[in-house]
Amino acid sequence: MRLLVLAAIGLAVVAGSARAAGRPVGAHGLIALDWHSGNRSTLVDHELSGVVLGQTLATRAVWYDLDEAVLLAAGLSTAQVPGALHAAEHAAIGLLPLFATCDRWDIGGMSTVVHPHTGCPTVFVHDGHPGGAGFAERGHAVLIPWLTATRAAIVDCKCRAGCPSCVQSPKCGNGNAPLDKAGAVTVLGVVLESVSGRS
Ligand SMILES: [Zn+2]
Ligand SMILES: [Zn+2]
Repeated sequence: MRLLVLAAIGLAVVAGSARAAGRPVGAHGLIALDWHSGNRSTLVDHELSGVVLGQTLATRAVWYDLDEAVLLAAGLSTAQVPGALHAAEHAAIGLLPLFATCDRWDIGGMSTVVHPHTGCPTVFVHDGHPGGAGFAERGHAVLIPWLTATRAAIVDCKCRAGCPSCVQSPKCGNGNAPLDKAGAVTVLGVVLESVSGRS
C-alpha cells in the first residue's frame, strides 16, 4: 500500500493503464463522486476515455491504494470490492470534519477498483476547492486516528447495510451505489494494519 498527498490531481481520469484499459466496460468499477463542493454529478467514466463530462478539478487529495489480492485474502469477494472501497470513502469523508475544520461539503472523494495512475484499488479524499484548502493535508496528518474513527463509526452503526450515519452520502454522484458496509470495515482494517505496521 502506498500513501501520498498528491499535488494537483485531475479528477478527469486520463487514458488508463494497459491493465485498466484491458478490462471490459464497467468492470474497472471506476466511480468519480462526491464532487466539487457538493455539486452532484454522475461522473462515471466507463470507458476511461479521459474526459469526465468535461469537468476537471485540480486540487489536492489524500489517497491510499491497496493490493486487490490482500483484500481478497481478507475475505472480500471480487464483486464486493467496488462497494467496499466506495463505502470506506464515504465514511471517511463523513468523519474528516471531526479532524479538520471543514464540513463534508468542502471535500469529495473518488474510489476505483483500478486507477490508471496506481494500477490497483484506490481511494481518494480530496479538497473540493481548486488548488486545495488544506483538508487533505490534515487528513494525511491524522490518518490513523481519522481512519480508526471511520472504521469505528461503521462498526458501531446499528443499521444492517448502510445508512446516512455511516456509509451513505447525501452528495454521492453515484446514487449511493454500490456500497458494501461490511466490506468497508475490511478495507479500513487492511489499511490501518498496513499503516500502523510501519509507524
Ligand atoms: Zn449505518
Ligand atoms: Zn458516493
